Amino acid sequence: MRKKIVAGNWKMNKTLDEAKALLSEVIHMVQDEVTSDVTVVLCPPSIYLTTARQYIPTGGRIKLGAQNCHEKKEGAYTGEASAHMLASVGTEYVILGHSERRQYFGETNATLADKVDVVLENGLTPIFCCGESRELRENGDYVGYVKGQLTDSLFHLSAEDFGKVVIAYEPIWAIGTGLTASSGQAQDMHFELRRHIADKYGDDVAQDTTILYGGSANAANAVELFTQPDVDGGLIGGASLKSRDFTTVVKAI
Ligand code: PEP
Repeated sequence: MRKKIVAGNWKMNKTLDEAKALLSEVIHMVQDEVTSDVTVVLCPPSIYLTTARQYIPTGGRIKLGAQNCHEKKEGAYTGEASAHMLASVGTEYVILGHSERRQYFGETNATLADKVDVVLENGLTPIFCCGESRELRENGDYVGYVKGQLTDSLFHLSAEDFGKVVIAYEPIWAIGTGLTASSGQAQDMHFELRRHIADKYGDDVAQDTTILYGGSANAANAVELFTQPDVDGGLIGGASLKSRDFTTVVKAI
């Protein structure tokens, strides 16, 4: 069964005190106001993961996520955190291949294939981001490009392991820009990705794959996006930094 998930990517925002305040507000609001079976993943900066773990009730629908991890198991990689370390502090999800990581830190489909492996080996769930630039959307085979990201970073997995991956379609032109993909654009791409997964792993796996939309999703447009048949939730950046906005997005599902 595909899960419904709303994940909040806080990126590089908030001091420790601000992070604590946001955690406690979001956790209370989600617990008090959300009745659906949605899984909520909070992804604070890695320096706050241990603190966040203490705020999040164990075994509930709110989960802890990281924004990245290194592809190697351990070693001399100054400044990095491994999947094993993330697991040891109670992280359950890891965002991988966010377009900001690809753009500013040179992450490639090949590096991401290694990251996916190490995340799965440590029992964590990858939230694998994919998406095209505005240039490609306007002038190129953007569907083929995004399918290629899945092929190159995920299709080496067994069907069993692929079944543990969450996909987040995030058109780069919509991230942090206030430009949201229309619900039709999101649905079309999610449908294409599901068909691509079906071609590789079969219909059952494709139907069970959770595909999130990300890119300026907010309290005002979440219902429209989340009611598309192939949109199973969202990866939320800016709107995850305000407890009321984020809770409204979660409730939209
Ligand atoms: C993101 O960073 O994953 C994202 C979707 O950001 P925003 O919601 O701010 O566009």
